[in-house]
Amino acid sequence: MGSNNFEEWYYRFLKSQAADTPESEKEEELLEVCKETAKLLPDEGIDSLYKSEDCLLCADEKDIRKKSCYAQTDLGHEQPKHRKDKKYSHISSGAYLPINISCCSRCKLNYLAVDLIPALIGIIIMGITIILFGNRGVRDAIIDKVDFLNPAIRPFLVFALIFVITLTICALLRRLLYDVFSKKTHFDIFEINDTMKILKALGWFKLYENTKGAQLVFAKELPNYLQDNTEHTTKDSEKQESTEEEETEEV
Ligand SMILES: [Zn+2]
Repeated sequence: MGSNNFEEWYYRFLKSQAADTPESEKEEELLEVCKETAKLLPDEGIDSLYKSEDCLLCADEKDIRKKSCYAQTDLGHEQPKHRKDKKYSHISSGAYLPINISCCSRCKLNYLAVDLIPALIGIIIMGITIILFGNRGVRDAIIDKVDFLNPAIRPFLVFALIFVITLTICALLRRLLYDVFSKKTHFDIFEINDTMKILKALGWFKLYENTKGAQLVFAKELPNYLQDNTEHTTKDSEKQESTEEEETEEV
């Protein structure tokens, strides 16, 4: 049942990516891609990832928050071999899968903090350095105090040294933030629950990766291809329920 539901929204997703789909790829071929991709998924499908009302990225079982947005990324797969994907040139063949994960505001902030705080601090340090080095008095003081090599290249060497130190500080800070926030937030999306663990075991891999975790973007709403599906499913089940009620009344 899960995979049928998957085929419905995945077909809408592929259609929405029409600009990236080769013209030769006709409707039946898209349906075929849906079927082939569905075979690469867990039996229960992957809809629980966005249907969960609880945040799935929360790592502390005693402190799991409610969903307030969706963390999004794409997964890739080596299969099916015959399907060349132009969108992701680094994958020679295979399917790709958009993933939407229920996420709370704290996990979103933790992800953003790990990316943005080190970058911001790096920019501030280098900004101040550039301003100081623009001052002739500071440059002369460096030439006087630093007693090695040719005086003409001393400011350049000091600048390069500060740059390397700044990069190291940023990397260490990033590492520290990961360790601190990992207590509350999963940074490896394949660790969040059984569905993601099974996806990994079935051969899916992250398409965008930084030093740790997956590169996620955050959205308040589900993408259209999933929203349509939710509406249909709700309407259909409501209809079904009311029909059943009527039938019961008649009996
Ligand atoms: Zn969370």
